[in-house]
Order: sequence, then C-alpha cells, then structure tokens
Amino acid sequence: MMRNIDQQTKKRLNRYYELLRQKAERIRDQKVNSIHQAYPEIKELENKRIQAGIAQVRNKISGFVGQNTLDLAEVDQELKSVLIAKNIPLDYSEPDYNCDICRDSGWIADGYCSCVDRVLIEINQQTNLYLPASDQTFANFDLNLFSNRKNPVFFQGQLSPREAMRGLRTIAKRYAENFRDNPENLYMFGTTGTGKTFLMSCIANELSNLGVNLVFIKAVKLFELMAQRRTLLNSYSPDPEEQDFINRTFELINNTELLCIDDIGLEAKGLLNTYSDLIVLLDDRYNAKLPVIMTGNLKPSELGEDYDERIQSRITGNFQLLMFEGPDVRTQTAKGRIEQDAD
Ligand SMILES: [Zn+2]
Repeated sequence: MMRNIDQQTKKRLNRYYELLRQKAERIRDQKVNSIHQAYPEIKELENKRIQAGIAQVRNKISGFVGQNTLDLAEVDQELKSVLIAKNIPLDYSEPDYNCDICRDSGWIADGYCSCVDRVLIEINQQTNLYLPASDQTFANFDLNLFSNRKNPVFFQGQLSPREAMRGLRTIAKRYAENFRDNPENLYMFGTTGTGKTFLMSCIANELSNLGVNLVFIKAVKLFELMAQRRTLLNSYSPDPEEQDFINRTFELINNTELLCIDDIGLEAKGLLNTYSDLIVLLDDRYNAKLPVIMTGNLKPSELGEDYDERIQSRITGNFQLLMFEGPDVRTQTAKGRIEQDAD
C-alpha cells in the first residue's frame, strides 16, 4: 500500500505498534509463566528442545554426531503430545497480535499493512482531541516570569521563585529525557498559577514531538466523561452513537502511552463514583505500566482528608512528587517584573 505519511506521524505510528507488540508479548509471558507453573514438564521439555537445537547446530558444524544428544524432532514430538493431552494450543508461546498479517509491525512485504488505516484514525483522535497548548514548550519557558527575590512568605528555603522554578524545569526535562527507559508517574502540586500546568504541557509537547502518543485532559472534563459513562451504563437503551463515542474515548484514556490529567481538585467532591472510577483508571494504568502525570492544588497530605484516602495512597505510593510554591505568576504586575529586573 503506497502512502504519504509525514515524519511526525510515522514516528507516532512506529511507537504505537511498538507498544502493541510489547503488550502482546507481556500477555504472552504471563500466559507462558502460568503454563510453566501448572505443568513443569512443559518447561522441562522446552529446555530440552533448546539443548537439542544447540546440539544439532553444533553437530552440523563439526560433522560430529555425539552420543546421547537429544534429537530435536523427537523432543518436538514429545512436547506436542503433552500439549495436546493438556489441551494447550501448539502456538501457546506465540504472542497474540492484534493483526495477524503484520504481527503488529504495520508492515508487510510491499508496504504498509491494511491495519494502518485504523491505527491512523486512532492516533488522529488521540492527537486532535486532547493535546496540550502547542506553545507551552521548554523552548518558550520564560524563567524571567518568576521573581528572583527570595520570599520567605512562600519559600521556607533559600531559593527565589526563579531558582525554584529552574530546578523544577530541570527535573521536568530529565523526566522527558528518561521517559522511554523509565516512565514514571508524576504528581505536580501547589497553589494556582505557580506553573504546574505549563510544565506538564512542556513535558507533553516534548514527548509528543518524539512520537509518544498521549492524552492531555482537564480533570473536570475527565470526571464529566466518567459520569456520562456511568449514566450510559445504567441506561436501558443507551444512544448507540453516544455509547460509541464514550467507548472510544475511554479506550484512548485507558491505553494511551501517557495520560496527563490537569488540575485535580475538589470538583468531583460528592460524586462518589467518580472517585472509584479514577482509582480504577489509576490502578489499571499502573498495572499496565502506563504512566500518568497529574497536576493539582492539594498537597499529598491533604488528598486523604479533602479527596479520598484511596487516591492519596495511590499518589503517595506510586507517584514521584513535585512541589510548586510561590505567588500566582499570572497576577504579578508588569511593575513587579521591572523591579525584579532592576535587581
Ligand atoms: Zn497489520
């Protein structure tokens, strides 16, 4: 199939397939492990099979047929009959790919596989629906917006807001750099207007440019969608179009490589189910090793009282914490900035 796909989309496409393959392989590993646990003889036969394979190659090279070497065909046959007896498919150690044609590579001999069409639609939805503001990047990050005056009211330490922000920017950059090797959960908290959302957007834009597929969503919007899903769930005859939209949206939110939730606050207070839905979402993504970045104005210690203890325990246990403090940069006057520059 001939296509014109721009470099950026190509990167996303490759990344998308890479994750699909990893997921299929992870599930395969779990399956094989549980088979090994239930039937150790199968594991033993697999080991024998490897030894027989090595012996066969060695004999072929040396021309020497050693005594007592295992015969590969014989071991194969034995393994096969054990599998049949236990009712285990013969291809049990093969990953169960989404697309059998290209084995989740997106490629076949003469070009793109036909499954690329579907994936492109998904990537488009992901990138068009929920992305951070495109101008909030590390390159546009202006440290001069932050005062270089130490302010003991906001900062207990020795740092000025600008110095503190410089440190946070370094951490955020490092997070983005290490994302592929070590994707971590991040909770950025602090009072309004201290640059949390901006910094999360910087990370998201940086990673998005590298081909990472992500969803960037306001907490209020996420809770709204969760409530909508609950309503549909309880409805006798849900509108099929709405149902389809919700299914596809949560397919994205649950499975996207990186989920950024902006401004977790108290909006959902009183919506008990929303808490449970958020916990399920965080747990599912944690188990699938898919990271989440959140911003919010509550300190981890306040999450338990004002929000929900179960959410608090997830965040303190599984998230790296980044504290933002200081006055609201958005309310700082131009005069204030001129004064700082004179320092
Ligand atoms: Zn395919």
